[in-house]
Amino acid sequence: MSAQLNQYDFDPDALRKKYRLERDKRLRQDGNEQYQEVSGEFAYFVEDPYLEEEIEREPITDEVEVVIIGGGFGGMLAAARLREKGIDDFKIIEKGGDFGGTWYWNRYPGASCDIESYIYFPLLEETGFIPKQKYTNAPETLEYCRIICEKFNLYENACLQTEVTSTIWNEDTNRWLVKTNQNDEIKARYVVHSNGPLNRPKLPAIKGINDFKGHTFHTSRWDYEYTGGNSHGNLDNLKDKRVAIIGTGATAVQCVPHLGVGAEQLYVFQRTPSSIDVRNNQPTDPNWISTQKEGWHDERRKNFETLLTGGQVKEDLVSDGWTEAFRLLFGNLREKAPSKMKMATWAATSIFSSEMYKKGFKAYMTDKAMEAMDIRNAMQMADFQKMEQVRARAQEVVKDEKTAESLKPYYNQFCKRPCFHDEYLDTFNRPNVELVDTDGKGLEEISEKGIVFNGKEYEVDCIIFATGFEVGTDYSRRAGYQIHGVDGKTISQKWENGLATLHGMHSRGFPNSFFFGPAQSGFTATYTYSLDEQSIHLAYILEKAMDKGATRIEATQEAEEKWIQTIIEKARLTADFQENCTPGYYNNEGKINQTPQNNTYGGGPIEFFSLMEKWRSKNNLEGLEIN
Ligand code: NDP
Repeated sequence: MSAQLNQYDFDPDALRKKYRLERDKRLRQDGNEQYQEVSGEFAYFVEDPYLEEEIEREPITDEVEVVIIGGGFGGMLAAARLREKGIDDFKIIEKGGDFGGTWYWNRYPGASCDIESYIYFPLLEETGFIPKQKYTNAPETLEYCRIICEKFNLYENACLQTEVTSTIWNEDTNRWLVKTNQNDEIKARYVVHSNGPLNRPKLPAIKGINDFKGHTFHTSRWDYEYTGGNSHGNLDNLKDKRVAIIGTGATAVQCVPHLGVGAEQLYVFQRTPSSIDVRNNQPTDPNWISTQKEGWHDERRKNFETLLTGGQVKEDLVSDGWTEAFRLLFGNLREKAPSKMKMATWAATSIFSSEMYKKGFKAYMTDKAMEAMDIRNAMQMADFQKMEQVRARAQEVVKDEKTAESLKPYYNQFCKRPCFHDEYLDTFNRPNVELVDTDGKGLEEISEKGIVFNGKEYEVDCIIFATGFEVGTDYSRRAGYQIHGVDGKTISQKWENGLATLHGMHSRGFPNSFFFGPAQSGFTATYTYSLDEQSIHLAYILEKAMDKGATRIEATQEAEEKWIQTIIEKARLTADFQENCTPGYYNNEGKINQTPQNNTYGGGPIEFFSLMEKWRSKNNLEGLEIN
């Protein structure tokens, strides 16, 4: 037994080997090509099952200052922040029947958010809303979207059930022409593209999907008419049905317990197990919220993201499964570190690099002490420790030995989206639930009657695809519309060989366009936080432009090139971590070096936000041509 094994209760070398083995098993040449686009004969997978009534209206021919594409949290926040600046001449175009974006579409049973609601819900101080629990669910989130829309009067600016089909730049008028599937033609000075990073459902490109004679749908278009029940569960119509669900990501983890209760027989087809940590939801203490001082909300979300990206905080305010690995790391380091180091919290191995964390340590330790400690190794040990806990939980909860083993994830915690659930693992103790472990291979074939794996046909009445959303494919394919910029050049052409933006928001050749999303920008686990920061940035720029009487804003060539270089350099810092991860959308399905500029800002979101704040405080719109 090695010295390290004594110290940590696990063998780091054996774990390293096992992680590598599991990763290698899943690497595939086809990367993103392994998925099937939901268009053409698969288009029925993206029809809207939630519409109560279809709107019939005349086409709109209009001219506005700003068109915002997308009515999810990004679009709502953009609109709210514009209103705050007195910019009211905008239209929000949304393909769904209501606001909500990802929450409009993802209403599957059990749909909820495992980022604490007090930080996930934006604008809480503005609306005064008190979430009922520490972790919210889909119905409450949709209710909250409506509250935001009412507070900021967004319905009066909305075109719902309307899908943008193209945006075309007119150099003579310095305006965009926004066309829609309702035959609208809306001219806009500015266009905000907030079409959602996980908006386009994907299917595995496996043989026979269209041969299946039973019922089928994707989790983001849940068919309650077929299953019965609602987001809270009670899937009564399934009591005499055999159901297969494909995928075991964050979505499946939340709906599998309800399917287990509802279905006569459930087969869960797994390629890679998720890490399932403790969730421990709690009702909100209304007294606690009412005692918070002004600015508490921003402080709390900043505190959480600071912890996750290696910064210093006095106290872990959220203190849940997300931040536990960092507390573990801190505990380990405190034991070893010089007494000088008192209170600090550090991130474990994560999507961000050990370089970042070193910055945090510097406040407490000499360079020599830091070197002696080998931070990277300490981070890896804390992550092993955390994941050993996660694996032990699977072992403890799941009675069947083989199933328990299959449910153990062997990779670093932030290689894939960590999950937090208190009923998922126990579902596999039900006699009507079977885990089909494809051992990293995934499915082979779908037949008329069901799913074929390892020579066995699993006959089912219904197949549910919990296979996630397109990430990393062509921008316009995901957005659902093409953007034709200066000289007719499309965004697909411009970004064909890699993203090119300034701050993730502007792209030369596409004046007066503002891109929302994580690419080349700050990416937070609390995704609404990045969207809010982008909205604040947008509102600042538009206010400045309007004050100057400007009609055209475009990133300079030089500023854009510099930003791409920054993204590439920062991506290098995290390349090692990503390279060792099991494939998934976090690491471009294992192809990490293909387009390093397609990453998020590798210095972490807090550094990015402060960079943007500094940029704004210079007050000169540096890197933008304003005419
Ligand atoms: P994911 O992309 O995370 O998961 C897709 C699943 O499908 C994976 O388990 C994947 O396996 C599996 N899969 C893909 N192809 C095949 C195949 N050929 N055979 C078998 N399995 C296959 O999508 P989700 O919808 O689960 O989640 C998307 C994101 O949405 C999350 O990462 C998270 O950011 C967000 N989300 C957040 C929640 C929250 O609580 N806040 C809840 C739900 C979602 P493999 O891992 O091997 O690729």
